[in-house]
Amino acid sequence: MFLQKKIILTFLVVLMACIFPVAAQHHDPDVSWYEGFFQEKSGTSIEKALEQGKNNLMKAREINDMPATVKAFMEIGLIHLTRTYDYGQSMDSFIQALAIEDSLDLRDRQAFTYLAIAHVYQDVSDYDKSAEFLEKALNLNEMRGNPEVLALILINMGKVNASKGRIEDAFENFNKVLSLKETVQKPNVEADALFNLGHLYTLQGQYDEALRQHKLSLSIRRSVDDKKNEARSLNDIGELYKMMKNYEKALANHVVALEIRQVLRDRPGAAESFNNIGDLYYQQRNLTRAIANLELGLDAARESDDQHQMRTSYEYLSACYEALGEYKKALEYKGHFFAINDLIHGDENEQQLSRTQNRYEIVKKETQIAQHQKELEDQKNFRNFLFLLLVLSGIIVGLIIYLYVIQKRSNARLKIAHEKVNQQNLELQELNATKDKFFSIISHDLKGPLNSLTSFSSLLINHTDSLSKEEIKMFASDFDKSLKNLFALLENLLEWSRSQTGNIEFIPETFDIAAMLEENKELLKAQAQNKKITLVNDNTGPLLINAHKNSINTVVRNLISNAIKFTPEEGRITLSVLKQNGEVVASITDTGVGMSQNVIDKLFRIDSKHSTKGTANEKGTGLGLILCKEFVEKNGGRIWVTSREGEGSVFYFTLLQETSKAF
Ligand code: ADP
Repeated sequence: MFLQKKIILTFLVVLMACIFPVAAQHHDPDVSWYEGFFQEKSGTSIEKALEQGKNNLMKAREINDMPATVKAFMEIGLIHLTRTYDYGQSMDSFIQALAIEDSLDLRDRQAFTYLAIAHVYQDVSDYDKSAEFLEKALNLNEMRGNPEVLALILINMGKVNASKGRIEDAFENFNKVLSLKETVQKPNVEADALFNLGHLYTLQGQYDEALRQHKLSLSIRRSVDDKKNEARSLNDIGELYKMMKNYEKALANHVVALEIRQVLRDRPGAAESFNNIGDLYYQQRNLTRAIANLELGLDAARESDDQHQMRTSYEYLSACYEALGEYKKALEYKGHFFAINDLIHGDENEQQLSRTQNRYEIVKKETQIAQHQKELEDQKNFRNFLFLLLVLSGIIVGLIIYLYVIQKRSNARLKIAHEKVNQQNLELQELNATKDKFFSIISHDLKGPLNSLTSFSSLLINHTDSLSKEEIKMFASDFDKSLKNLFALLENLLEWSRSQTGNIEFIPETFDIAAMLEENKELLKAQAQNKKITLVNDNTGPLLINAHKNSINTVVRNLISNAIKFTPEEGRITLSVLKQNGEVVASITDTGVGMSQNVIDKLFRIDSKHSTKGTANEKGTGLGLILCKEFVEKNGGRIWVTSREGEGSVFYFTLLQETSKAF
């Protein structure tokens, strides 16, 4: 059980150890991808790599994925730069990438493209141009502030500056890379900077400092198990010790470098090591060992077709044999030396030529870049102009809309104010009409009862002697009734006036409408008798309704008065009331003059006051029916008339039944 736990624990620790370093360092995948092209290739052949790049390009174009297209162009360009050394082709691809990046503003990718173009120039020894593009990459990266890309740019700047002989600048570049080591956390970058610094110090003759830098670089390369570069560091340290005349240490370092190179089967590297060791022995006058090593160096150089190392081997071997006094051999090797030297120089010339050719190609591409950038600039300017135009139009449209809205709002406000004024005008007109009506009604409705009072009083004055005491008593009582009626009427009018000013509430009460008709019949009987008109009430029993009593009384009285007024002598007026469809319908029927349809249409309307004289020349105001309509409607009822000219009229009005009985 305990053992099992221990195994699990160990497994977890191992797992953590595997995961942790990976998880701790979040390197920019784009930088790693870019750096990958400059590292030793194993496995994939150039053809395969190029085919892969072209496939990627095709796929990206098919789905119109622009960032992927740029990446594929870069991939193809970098393969040409690092493997086929076809700088024209590689520039071509970089230009295509640059064009897309420019038009789509893919700034983060563009830094890599500038860096790659700088590499091309560096490889064809055009260090000025290379520096120019590195500067561009630097400016671009400044905005993004990617430290890994910055380190990459600075390493290359350092190398270019060193090649241009600007040692101070190169120092600054590599030191800057070292200052970034905490943020970048890339041992190979740090080791590279230290290694280059080692060379710069060597150039300046500061061997101790050079040694220090090389050793630092070596220890980093060892820690990351970068064998090939470890051997390079050891070799350069060996050479440094040789310059410092510390042959023992020089030999020790060269031997270790050689061992690594042999394990790696790095034949050109081994040739270099053998030659350096040979040279070391030669300088110490250990000629046998020198020759043995130099011959091994020559073999390795031949195997790997490394002409430079072969030349070194021949040169040192010739010197060794010369020192040994074996002049024939010395001469023989010297001959080989010259031959290969010519070959190398020939190659160098060829390389020089191809460099010139490449330069020519590059200048051509460069003009294309400039042309392209000009086009882009023009496009950008045009775009900016369009944008400005759009913004301006937007502002103008916005202003127009704003003004329109403001105008509309003020119009709406004006309209509301206008409507308010109109409404107030209407109310004023109505109030004015109401006031007129009020005065007319007072005169109209007061006249009726006062007429009957004067007929009573003249009867009493003219016939006092001929009248018996009983008759006088009867007339006095009728006189009293008329006065009371007049009083009630005045009260009515006052109430109505209050209703018009909104001060009266039509509070309904329950009362007997049949009784009300009977009372009015009795009140107006004398008036009817004067015209020999028979006034009959058809009703037999009580009929309760729910309404404002005083206003309904005014309606009844008006309608009976009208009937008397427009009925000639010997006529008949019938009062009746009945229940119909849940409401009460009262009617006043006369055998009077009747009305034409034209007259009927004008009734009940204040805007077309219609009035005719009665059959006994009675005057009117044309307001009685308007008052009736208003009061009936205020009580929730309707009023209407049916009439035939020369035959008579029937005035109807409805009222609500007493609440308890209605439901
Ligand atoms: P007024 O009777 O004071 O003229 P009303 O409003 O009461 O005012 O009546 C308006 C008009 O309607 C009368 O002038 C008359 O022409 C007509 N009218 C009213 N009642 C009758 C009726 N019972 N028979 C015939 N015409 C009538």
